[in-house]
Amino acid sequence: MALLQISEPGLSAAPHQHRLAVGIDLGTTNSLVATVRSGSAACLPDDDGRTLLPSVVHYGADQTVTVGHAAQKRQNQDPANTVVSVKRFMGRGLTDVADAATPYRFVDEPGMLKLSTAAGIKSPVEVSADILRALRTRAEQSLGGELVGAVITVPAYFDDAQRQATKDAARLAGLNVLRLLNEPTAAAIAYGLDNASEGTYVVYDLGGGTFDVSILELTRGVFEVRATSGDSQLGGDDFDHRLYCWILEAAGLSQLNDKDARLLLTKARQAKEALTEHASTQITAKLSDDSVIDVELTAEIFQQITDHLVQKTVTPVRRALRDARLTADDIKGVVLVGGATRMPHVRRAVAQLFGKPPLTNLDPDKVVALGAAMQANVLAGNKGDDDWLLLDVIPLSLGLETMGGLVEKVIPRNSTIPTARAQEFTTFKDGQTAMAIHVLQGERELVTDCRSLARFELRGIPAMVAGAARIRVTFQVDADGLLSVSAQEQSSGVQASIVVKPSYGLSDDEIGRMLSDSMAHAGDDLEARKLAEARVESESIVNATLAALEQDGDLLNADERQAVDTALAAAQAANAGSNANLIRTAAEALNQASGDFAARRMDRAVSRGLAGHKVSDF
Ligand code: ADP
Ligand code: MG
Repeated sequence: MALLQISEPGLSAAPHQHRLAVGIDLGTTNSLVATVRSGSAACLPDDDGRTLLPSVVHYGADQTVTVGHAAQKRQNQDPANTVVSVKRFMGRGLTDVADAATPYRFVDEPGMLKLSTAAGIKSPVEVSADILRALRTRAEQSLGGELVGAVITVPAYFDDAQRQATKDAARLAGLNVLRLLNEPTAAAIAYGLDNASEGTYVVYDLGGGTFDVSILELTRGVFEVRATSGDSQLGGDDFDHRLYCWILEAAGLSQLNDKDARLLLTKARQAKEALTEHASTQITAKLSDDSVIDVELTAEIFQQITDHLVQKTVTPVRRALRDARLTADDIKGVVLVGGATRMPHVRRAVAQLFGKPPLTNLDPDKVVALGAAMQANVLAGNKGDDDWLLLDVIPLSLGLETMGGLVEKVIPRNSTIPTARAQEFTTFKDGQTAMAIHVLQGERELVTDCRSLARFELRGIPAMVAGAARIRVTFQVDADGLLSVSAQEQSSGVQASIVVKPSYGLSDDEIGRMLSDSMAHAGDDLEARKLAEARVESESIVNATLAALEQDGDLLNADERQAVDTALAAAQAANAGSNANLIRTAAEALNQASGDFAARRMDRAVSRGLAGHKVSDF
């Protein structure tokens, strides 16, 4: 999603008319709505003055829908009908979440999973729509008018299905989506980094259940997401869980029933949050058997027992830096996002990692909503002279299958979008009139190790000798991340094309696995590539020799023919094996053996060409 904003049709505002637009951070744990008033962005509070809306929805048997704090209160009594972290289910099928421990009754359906609740069957889109509707109502009441639209943020890693599901939820909630915006990009906007001098910034986002790190680069007013990485199973919840285990140990308990466990988890979260401000805290809870837990916890112990979780964020940070080909020294500033980055030991670790204190003057759990509000303000036409140019990247390389089952990468991973790249390919056989185009995604060298995205065929290529046709294949990824591939034969102009969604259905984990596979197998892949290349090279010599023998075999005497045939058979035999060196040597020998033959064929072709002409004609 690029943010090259020129003008949105129908949205140019009449002078002095302020159009109401909001930014919404639709978070896994908490959601917020913000707007720009009198030039500055602010989060809108509920009637009780709270800006955070817990992303929790309770469905009652009497069809009542409760959202936020009130729903959170029902969670302990009625977990099966209280949906939390619904963002994890957006655009996902049942198999994607099969191993997650949840209290829900899932309904297996093709496409996105659904939840069976007391108020009926709900899809994650409907649950998200209920959260969005609550925020829309809050905004309209507080601003006193109807909204022209909203910018809604999504994780940089969200794929097409997840983005589409988010858009659908907004539409269902009666919101006009001005744009989906990546969360790190929104945070950068909130900090005004787009107005800063040039430099590279890191956005470190530790939320309730996910960790995301992004590297943004600003050059000559152009803001670009250079790389993203993260851990979809790491967040504040893990700190709560670790603390929960510690409390059990301290209280000498081994196991609790579900209800007590949830109560204690809530206590753990409260203790964790208290320790951000205080040196120690008292944890007290009354269990269902009337026994009482009462333990003291110091910030020091809390930090010790959770330090390994903080350290777990280091690997994705390093990976993102490596992908962007940068070191920590190249980073000009670090933006902290997500409630969990309030913890002092998280801040210390980040400062240590980058050798400088992170930016913290904005509230880490509001920063995304604030940036989204600023973007919404521009898109609604309230501010005409802005020229943000913000670019996103594609997470995995896109390429084509070439001879020998190899993948030729056309657009490397982490290329900024929108992007277009073209590469020329040629035919492999004489007289070849069609070419199969197989589009793949992934980092590995072999087709079998990458993900197949689409196939199509270019037909009607004029018959030519192998290698003469020039087929230009263009890959284009538009601002919404949609890939289209087209192929055109240059001399005849025949063309074919296809549109594919490159990231459809790929989860972070899959992307992560495909990346780590490509690193682990770098050695094997190199060997496999060598072998496949040797085979392709040798096969083309074998084919050319066979064609030449058929056409001009009479130029050879019996001995010469014998020598060529022997070399030919040896090359074919080597090709059937899998020794790249042997294949190369045999192909080279065939080349040598047919060298004279080729020269004689050339002479014949020339004399045929000269036949009937006088030298003076030339
Ligand atoms: P998400 O992006 O997942 O919706 P948030 O950015 O709202 O999440 O972060 C929620 C997490 O932040 C929760 O785990 C919460 O306990 C944690 N958190 C909020 N305030 C504090 C605090 N003062 N100290 C430590 N953790 C906090
Ligand atoms: Mg968040």
